[in-house]
Amino acid sequence: MQTHEIRRRFLDHFEKLGHTPVPSASLVLDDPNLLFINAGMVQFVPYFLGQRTPPFDRAVSVQKCVRTGDIENVGVTTRHNTFFQMAGNFSFGDYFKREVVGFAWTLLTSPVEEGGYGFDPERIWATAYLDDDEAIQIWKDVAGLPDERIQRRGMADNYWSMGIPGPCGPCSEIYYDRGPEYGRDGGPEADEDRYIEIWNLVFMQNERGQGTGKDDFEILGPLPRKNIDTGMGVERVAFLLQEVDNVYETDLVRPVITEAERLSGRTYGENHEADVRFRVIADHARTAVMLIADGVTPGNDGRGYVLRRLLRRIVRSARLLGATDPSMSRFVTVVRDTMAESYPELVEDFARIESVAVGEERAFLTTLSSGSKLFESAAQSVTAAGGKRIGGSEAFVLHDTYGFPIDLTLEMAAEAGLEVDEDGFRTLMAEQRSRAKADAQARKHAHTDLSVYKEFVDRGPTEFTGFDELDSEATV
Ligand code: ATP
Ligand code: MG
Ligand code: MG
Ligand code: MG
Repeated sequence: MQTHEIRRRFLDHFEKLGHTPVPSASLVLDDPNLLFINAGMVQFVPYFLGQRTPPFDRAVSVQKCVRTGDIENVGVTTRHNTFFQMAGNFSFGDYFKREVVGFAWTLLTSPVEEGGYGFDPERIWATAYLDDDEAIQIWKDVAGLPDERIQRRGMADNYWSMGIPGPCGPCSEIYYDRGPEYGRDGGPEADEDRYIEIWNLVFMQNERGQGTGKDDFEILGPLPRKNIDTGMGVERVAFLLQEVDNVYETDLVRPVITEAERLSGRTYGENHEADVRFRVIADHARTAVMLIADGVTPGNDGRGYVLRRLLRRIVRSARLLGATDPSMSRFVTVVRDTMAESYPELVEDFARIESVAVGEERAFLTTLSSGSKLFESAAQSVTAAGGKRIGGSEAFVLHDTYGFPIDLTLEMAAEAGLEVDEDGFRTLMAEQRSRAKADAQARKHAHTDLSVYKEFVDRGPTEFTGFDELDSEATV
């Protein structure tokens, strides 16, 4: 089943169950504490908090999400995109646990001919928060799941929050077992690469305060009403239904890999390291297009820096694969062609999207060539002094001033028959990181102003906020 179809079936299923379809909000919300929208519920926060009365009791959406925390996972795990579509159904003080389990179960397990996804019920597992006996009983009653396929998990996995103050609650998650050839027995608790998480059902009933992290925060108390918030990963369902090996090989992402194969003359699937690069290109090209479409431009901090980093990783990965000519224009064109059916705005706005992406590619290629000069002179002086090793501080300057990733420096050094003082480099990086962390920490403990969500809802969820605002003081 094609990804566009998975998305459509989700909306149809919940519309039939009385949910009002709500369009995806922009990836960029004007909240300095939230870099990008990372879940479907974000645009509904004021309804959950009881600050606004929703115009409907039930809603359904497919929300564009970006999770920068998953950048390092891309291409390495089977299941993390930086951009993905979160399909969700929401109840604002209407139905609760029992109904939501039934709704999800029906969509997942109904035969394809009847509008469902046709997953084999025998391969589905569920989890519940530690003391949530009620949810466990519901899984047995409504879905007929046996005890062995229900697991209890703690705060980190089964207590959901946005990562910042706002609504939160215990959750129950749905996993699909890919089979013993993909990993260890023992359910999601044992192996999340074999048992793939597809859907999170959140029983949104409390409000969280500040705290130091995802799993460490205070619960301020109950929300005015009990709500339901769910998030199903559209790309994860596509990965499983299309029986490919990961989220990068689905119908919407794999065509970029094919383009990268063509431009580099290499074949995907022959070498692990190269495959990770192919997947990084495909994932990041899509995220970059979606971010630019929502008004982000490359910059040196906040949102702009995330975009810059994604675009540079594409250029670098393509270069390391052996593509010598500029390739950005091709990658973003393929993304437009695959994504346009669900996001027609990409076609109208394409000239601008392409020029932003290609402009950054050009700038980085220039950077690469001036950085290469610095590299050459460092290499020459090392050789002239009879040494074999480029200093950590040179590698750091190359990284910090010229945007040279360390693996690029390492590769160039190896080509010149030299080594790099990687420990020295890492020490300097760690020092820089702890300075940045101290900064971020200071910002995190600044007061979070939830009124932005109120304004957001008042303004209407789909309104575009303009380019100037987006360059403001967003934090990483
Ligand atoms: P994981 O444990 O796999 O990282 P998660 O627990 O962080 O996922 P949730 O916050 O529960 O994910 O989000 C709801 C759903 O969104 C997940 O069940 C999954 O299907 C999907 N999802 C989450 N992160 C990603 C991602 N990086 N790429 C694709 N889909 C994702
Ligand atoms: Mg995650
Ligand atoms: Mg999880
Ligand atoms: Mg989850």
